[in-house]
Amino acid sequence: MSKRTFIIVGASLAGAKAAEELRGRGFDGRVVLIGSEPERPYERPPLTKDYLRGESEREKAYVHEQGFYERHEIELVMGSTVTAIDPNAPRVTLDDGRALGFDRLLLTTGADPRHISVPGADLDRVYYVRTLADCDALRERLDTGGHVVVVGAGWIGSEFAASARQRGLEVTVVDPLALPNERIFGAEIGAFYRDVHAQHGIELLLGEGVDAFEGDGAVARVRTSSGKAVECDFAVVGIGVAPRAQLARDAGLQVDNGILVGEKLQSSAPNVLAAGDVANAFHPFYGQPIRIEHWANALNQGPAAARAMLSEPVSYDRIPYFFSDQYEVGMEYSGYATEWDEVVFRGDRDGGEFIAFWLRERRVLAGMNVNVWDVHEHVQALIRSRRTIDVAALSDPDTPLDLLVGELTTGS
Ligand SMILES: Cc1cc2nc3c(=O)[nH]c(=O)nc-3n(C[C@H](O)[C@H](O)[C@H](O)COP(=O)(O)OP(=O)(O)OC[C@H]3O[C@@H](n4cnc5c(N)ncnc54)[C@H](O)[C@@H]3O)c2cc1C
Repeated sequence: MSKRTFIIVGASLAGAKAAEELRGRGFDGRVVLIGSEPERPYERPPLTKDYLRGESEREKAYVHEQGFYERHEIELVMGSTVTAIDPNAPRVTLDDGRALGFDRLLLTTGADPRHISVPGADLDRVYYVRTLADCDALRERLDTGGHVVVVGAGWIGSEFAASARQRGLEVTVVDPLALPNERIFGAEIGAFYRDVHAQHGIELLLGEGVDAFEGDGAVARVRTSSGKAVECDFAVVGIGVAPRAQLARDAGLQVDNGILVGEKLQSSAPNVLAAGDVANAFHPFYGQPIRIEHWANALNQGPAAARAMLSEPVSYDRIPYFFSDQYEVGMEYSGYATEWDEVVFRGDRDGGEFIAFWLRERRVLAGMNVNVWDVHEHVQALIRSRRTIDVAALSDPDTPLDLLVGELTTGS
């Protein structure tokens, strides 16, 4: 029986999947999974979608069924926050003063919503959405109806806005950009999502910031940068997240936009690893560190870190992937594009069933399939190939994508 102790700090998707992997690979030492939240690990995507709208059971959100951790002898410590880590001792300290020694430590501490700092930001009924507790409070608000102002037209804000609209609320979205997510995806996709929201009856105040939340105790109106006062019953802020890297920073680990880890997900202290939203991991395909704040990364990087903890060979090089659902519009995005010279569309753009490709010098950097399914693996194969592509064939739905991929893989 191995006497080794592996500790995982952060009991959410990345941490829970890492613990599962350790047991799945036969690790028979001690596995301790510590989380601040009072819940066993759960997934967050339902919190702006079906669970928020009251269309799915709470049970469906959990990463594992009740009893999983006990059955696999994973010591799940819930409602406990790790306040310090010492890679040299090596040990972690909990908020109740307990100290636990470890052989390997995995940090999956995730990310925190960025808070808005304008007058009135601390009024009641100004909400954020990260945890099940946040979502439960918002579910109740949705039950009472009314008018919500959503600050931020990124994915979280957009999905919340769509769900609130589906529940029949009046919704105003305020964002300083001219188009939703314009900085990340450019004008075409930004305009597509703007139109989707407008068609569903959302009021979009684009190109406007928020100057203040106003009200007596609770928010009653939102003052925008152009001086508009939007009356509301509550407000939801979704303006991005920041990695929770303070523990690592305090311990002297290298931190820069998250915990810096190599392709083996090892930090600057060899016995400490990181995965999920908090990890800024060197990506061998891109040749640079990338921090990804998406479900699939937590799902896959946690287990990869577990294998690295077991000294198995690991080089985490998955193509970044995420998904979003708003109303009847589902999409998957694969890749990583910061600069591109054209966006090529394939399919029915006006009808909302298409694939968009971000290209640079005719190489596919990223692809987004909207209401078109079972293609993201082809998109990823195109990205991975790094080969120049026939743009006419790429945009022609009659040229099967798998043929394009096949041509690439056979080198013709
Ligand atoms: C509302 C919502 C909807 C989303 N929808 C999508 C989607 O549609 N598609 C998609 O791809 N992604 C989506 N995401 C993103 C996805 O959920 C995250 O990428 C994922 O949750 C990251 O998992 P993680 O385990 O790395 O971190 P987290 O989920 O942030 O979990 C970290 C955990 O660590 C705990 N913790 C932190 N510090 C300590 C400490 N010191 N001691 C103990 N515990 C600690 C925290 O309490 C938390 O429970 C969504 C996120 C949110 C919030």
